[in-house]
Amino acid sequence: MSAPHITHIDICKYRVPFPEPIEFALGRITHSATIFLRIHADNGLYGMGEASPDPWITGETQDICFAAARYLAPHLLGKDPTAVTARTAEIDSLLLHNSSTRCAFDLALYDLAAKQAGLPLYAYLGGEKRSFVTDFTLWLDTPERMATAALAYQQARAVVLKMKVGTSREDDVARVQAVRAAVGPEMPLRIDANQGWDEDTAVGVLRELVGCNIEFCEQPVAYRDFEALARVRAQSVIPIMADESLLDQVDAERLAAMGACDLFNIKPGKAGGLHNALAIEAIARQAGISCMVGVFDETRLALSAYAHFICARPNILYADLDSYLVYPDDPISGGVIFDGPHVIVSDTPGHGADVREDVWERLEGTVVGG
Ligand SMILES: [Mg+2]
Repeated sequence: MSAPHITHIDICKYRVPFPEPIEFALGRITHSATIFLRIHADNGLYGMGEASPDPWITGETQDICFAAARYLAPHLLGKDPTAVTARTAEIDSLLLHNSSTRCAFDLALYDLAAKQAGLPLYAYLGGEKRSFVTDFTLWLDTPERMATAALAYQQARAVVLKMKVGTSREDDVARVQAVRAAVGPEMPLRIDANQGWDEDTAVGVLRELVGCNIEFCEQPVAYRDFEALARVRAQSVIPIMADESLLDQVDAERLAAMGACDLFNIKPGKAGGLHNALAIEAIARQAGISCMVGVFDETRLALSAYAHFICARPNILYADLDSYLVYPDDPISGGVIFDGPHVIVSDTPGHGADVREDVWERLEGTVVGG
């Protein structure tokens, strides 16, 4: 059997307003602005990928992703899409940074390779189907409004909530206490400061929140300051999770060697795709670090691939996959199903998700090759 070859690649922009702007310690977001990729092979199969840029964390916007994708696409034409390791190594060597764009190619290649193998992606990655839940996110707001949102999620069967914090000690403690009072003592809460604190504030807030049943705290301090992260961890009873500090395997090795955190938040969009995310998970496993998989503002397309990744690696204990909620008019067909907080992957080959045909037809885009 001869190997398939890539014939052409569609690159499209998808932009929709969020139902409500969302706010966190780094900024405010009013629109989704993602890129969809479709990599076609001469055997009639195609793979779907997505880039969800985050200017504060990966340094990308929709236009940057579009330009970067146009730059990378010609290099793939005529090559075997099922040689995923070779293709992703080429992509990584062609473009430093631009991790969301590299992730879009990576997801499309894995989708195509798993389809060619006739396997759902979790099986292609050597895993098996398992059930897990996602948290729901409370965006930065007043304590009262965050408590109201928490109650609404509780009524929607949430089993764990993630709260955005990271403005000031007084406000953040008030936010957590208000949410805790609203949902009762049992439901675990995760908090995410998005680098909003200095070291002293982080230690102070975390001390005040002992007894609030906080499962872990993401990224208390500035992403580059691994030493401060390690010192906060040493003084905190609440486990510390690295998010913005953890971009790639080099960061993973350093964080693990320094004992700078208890947990990793792996985002394929930060790592440059699943191939690097898998490598980070392997480093974590060796170091005894458990992982969460997190997202930017991906649609259910990328979320489907991430859900398969979670199934494939038992050391991923936590999932933060609720970005689909900002798309009330879901642009995706097939793929992962969200039953309240329960995440159910499909058994169709690949990650199972595609852009709805009526949405695809309206997208602004370009074709490379063909
Ligand atoms: Mg985070």
